[in-house]
Amino acid sequence: MRNAMAAAPLGDDVFGDDPSVNTLQEKIAALLGFEAALFVSSGTQSNLCVILSHCQRGDEYIVGQFAHCYRWEGGGAAVFGSVQPQPLQHQPDRTLSLEDIEAAIKPDDAHFARTRLLAQENTLGGKLLPIEYLQQATQLAKSKGLATHLDGARLFNAATAQSAVTGRDVRKEARRIASCFDSVSVCLSKGLGAPVGSVLCGSREFISSAHRIRKMAGGGMRQAGVLAAAGTHALDYHVNRLIQDHILAQWLAEGLANVPGLRVEVPQTNILFVDLVGSAKKRSVELLPYLKTNGILATGLYRLRFVTHLDVDAAGIDRAIAAITSFFKA
Ligand SMILES: *Cc1c(COP(=O)(O)O)cnc(C)c1O
Repeated sequence: MRNAMAAAPLGDDVFGDDPSVNTLQEKIAALLGFEAALFVSSGTQSNLCVILSHCQRGDEYIVGQFAHCYRWEGGGAAVFGSVQPQPLQHQPDRTLSLEDIEAAIKPDDAHFARTRLLAQENTLGGKLLPIEYLQQATQLAKSKGLATHLDGARLFNAATAQSAVTGRDVRKEARRIASCFDSVSVCLSKGLGAPVGSVLCGSREFISSAHRIRKMAGGGMRQAGVLAAAGTHALDYHVNRLIQDHILAQWLAEGLANVPGLRVEVPQTNILFVDLVGSAKKRSVELLPYLKTNGILATGLYRLRFVTHLDVDAAGIDRAIAAITSFFKA
């Protein structure tokens, strides 16, 4: 990836003539079946460009309580766009109920914000949302005149998990998920392992609007091809290996399953949640610093989150299992 970055031909992307940025944008648009794409500096900036392109001041978007573009982005759409969220509770499988979505769509009445957009996320908390659900929810939204957006920061992890079930090609599964939506945002900097950036896909008209918002957000970057080349490399070489991250997360889960005081979820992708229960909770404050001194990074307190990625190998997983097991034995 470093070599690809060093070798990237560069231009000025503010003028649209950086060949490496254009290559990345054309590649992801073709891969996911969209007319156009836009390279942005982060997933947060991508979602901001999306919401401000689909919605005007006084509009609202329907979104799950746990969605990144509602809960984890500093309320950006409200701050910069005067767009209000209409958050809904998730079902136990992380979907939103179709009845709840329909009930949240406001009638055309001066009392209400105008409901314009349904935003979904896949994977959400490392969980794959069923494709049948995505199809139904987006069809419902479209039948009511709403636009639909997928925060697919981890779209290729979702596609990898889906491909393990259907046996189809990961890229085809990514395209099948994306095809439900008017716009899709993908993080290059998560499981795909690039240092910076996300790509946003949509119609030519939508991307031209998002491009204007990106400019307003200060997201126009000049010789950005040096970063885009990392993204192109990630799409070429880091998609097919995601299955390894999923297998290692599974391996970690199995290795921790019998440690007393831990309740271990079954991971579907590369994110593993582990709850501390009973007396193990008392030691939660010491646990993360202990893991860090052993070279293992996790987040959380009573609910730990471990993520596997391209810099974690099988030996690292064994080391993590051994360290955590010995911590709770001591
Ligand atoms: C990480 C993430 C984002 C934001 O990406 P940044 O590049 O960190 O701004 C958005 N949505 C989801 C689902 C994410 O996981």
